[in-house]
Amino acid sequence: FDLRNEDLKDLQELGQGNGGSVKKVEHIPTGKIMAKKIVLIDAKPAVRKQILRELQIMHDCNSKYIISFWGAFIADPNICMCIELMDKGSLDGIYKKIGPIEIDVVGMVALAVLEGLTYLYDVHRIIHRDIKPSNILFNSQGEIKICDFGVSGELINSIADTFVGTSTYMSPERIQGAQYTVKSDVWSLGVSLIELALGRFPFSESVSDDSDLSDLEGTLSPARPGSMNSLASLGLPPSRKRTSATAKKDKRKSKGVSLQGGGMTMSILELLQHIVNEPAPRLTPEGRFPKQAENFVDSCLLKDPDQRKTPKDLLNDEWIIYAKTSPIDLEVWASTF
Ligand code: ADP
Ligand code: MG
Repeated sequence: FDLRNEDLKDLQELGQGNGGSVKKVEHIPTGKIMAKKIVLIDAKPAVRKQILRELQIMHDCNSKYIISFWGAFIADPNICMCIELMDKGSLDGIYKKIGPIEIDVVGMVALAVLEGLTYLYDVHRIIHRDIKPSNILFNSQGEIKICDFGVSGELINSIADTFVGTSTYMSPERIQGAQYTVKSDVWSLGVSLIELALGRFPFSESVSDDSDLSDLEGTLSPARPGSMNSLASLGLPPSRKRTSATAKKDKRKSKGVSLQGGGMTMSILELLQHIVNEPAPRLTPEGRFPKQAENFVDSCLLKDPDQRKTPKDLLNDEWIIYAKTSPIDLEVWASTF
């Protein structure tokens, strides 16, 4: 296609993210229904053109685990991307609607995400960088696909410069300023799977158990990705143990960055500290889920990236192999909500 904004008719709002909005649209000349993502960026025209060039790589991303790309264009001052519409939306919306997702379906989500990540990395050397339930999409044919991966270095830079991105799926090593690797995506996958299986963001419970952090009950906390490096130097050595005194001090210090999510207030600094300093979340309570699921999630959430496996290695995990032969028909499952 040669996509132009004038040819697209807005049909419905699909969602709002930190960096823009997503709408269901019709491409009038062809009648094709798509999702149009408007990316709000504040970049010079030359940079926008560069981003557009880089996004063209998405035309070559052909995998049934990756969202199809129909094209991108500049609609001053923003960039618009037209992608495959996934009519059942993202997995965060699904669990918020139907409650915790049954663990065997979660296993099939894990399989699809690992396949998608392995494809992106092996074929295109792309690291996703933003695995979370809202970037895992589902349709009524029962397909699971990932979207919003980091194809464009310029886009990643521009976004970091202009607005905040969610950061609570971020691995401990990333919080401490290390480079992204495919293993950072594996951490984010582990957090996402627990969220789907429990029907809530996994850090909320472990955190509210701790009296020092009793007000830290939340879901997402935006942070400037670009400020992650400076965060590492803010006095957060990974081994530092919290005391009530430091917790109170942090609370005051971080007041300016505390945010609301569904009526809850939390401090981003506290959550990031928690991820770095405390044991990783787990599929709990013990015994509620199959041992293989627990083991898989534990291996995604190894805090030391050297010990954590790559997506490709994890495709050989017992639980994932089991998911490959699952008797569940996701098309039928999709028809239940
Ligand atoms: P985020 O991923 O942080 O929620 P986005 O701007 O990427 O923010 O997306 C906003 C919402 O739009 C998502 O949560 C998702 O539910 C919906 N969405 C995004 N892409 C599609 C798509 N291709 N098909 C259907 N829904 C989509
Ligand atoms: Mg998204």
